[in-house]
Amino acid sequence: MVDIPYRRELEFSYGTVAHIAPGIRRVIANNPGPFTFHGTGTYILGTGQVAVIDPGPDDEAHIDAILNALDGEEVSHILVTHTHMDHSPGCRLLQAKTGAPTYAYGPHGAGKMEQGVQVEEGGDMDFDPDHLVKHGDIIRGKDWTVECVYTPGHTSNHLCFALQEQKALFTGDHVMGWSTSIISPPDGDMAAYMDSLQLLLDRDDEVYWPTHGPSIIDPKTHVQAYIDHRLDRERQIIECIKQGTHHIREMVPLMYKDTPEFMYPAAARSVLAAMENLVRNQQVRVGGEGDGTSMGMDSAYDLA
Ligand SMILES: [Zn+2]
Repeated sequence: MVDIPYRRELEFSYGTVAHIAPGIRRVIANNPGPFTFHGTGTYILGTGQVAVIDPGPDDEAHIDAILNALDGEEVSHILVTHTHMDHSPGCRLLQAKTGAPTYAYGPHGAGKMEQGVQVEEGGDMDFDPDHLVKHGDIIRGKDWTVECVYTPGHTSNHLCFALQEQKALFTGDHVMGWSTSIISPPDGDMAAYMDSLQLLLDRDDEVYWPTHGPSIIDPKTHVQAYIDHRLDRERQIIECIKQGTHHIREMVPLMYKDTPEFMYPAAARSVLAAMENLVRNQQVRVGGEGDGTSMGMDSAYDLA
């Protein structure tokens, strides 16, 4: 298996602002957990008139901490990487206090909707951005310039934001230092995620600031390790099938030996995502009972 160069060292305290780079501040929300690490890192760009990236969960104390971090400054933009519950619900609270407009790719499931798939679970269904932005769009503030980089996979509406003044990329949950991303169908899509990793390899960002965990200062090494890791997972699935294991729930304990058992349901979602990719690439087919076309958690899988 590939060794991922995880980065987990992070000094911080909840509710206080950290000046982490010129023109970049961060406040971490007090929502630690198995999917959020220490919690949601909300970034503040610029001075005087600032952009806030991902106001975080529905947590009044966190929004107050963000506003306290501002020194009589105005929030002019709210940028949202994606619509998971630890990223976008805080928009409503922050908007109520600042009136700043939100910028995002679209509501939850927006990327899937374009493919004719309705996604209505697991996200912040109430979020509806004021401004829709797409890949390559530029958002300008008083002393900052952000390029929108569309990176579907973790969710179908995921954006990274490139701060041009710093060659810094705010990667949301697309690339994190402390853990791999959860890719959970139907909104999560492994093929899209792999394409979105490749997209980053072709860019020249010098540092990544993920929502969870510390910065990544060797971005390409990291992204390549994630690509290799997913290819390893695909090889493991094929090996499982060869050895006579045809169901996802039986593959998970074999594939995730070092993962605590309470994470198995999430791991199973990632295996399903990998399986969808293998089926699409005609390396695996849906076998067993049923019509052989509907693939899900309970389907039996065979080599194509
Ligand atoms: Zn997320």
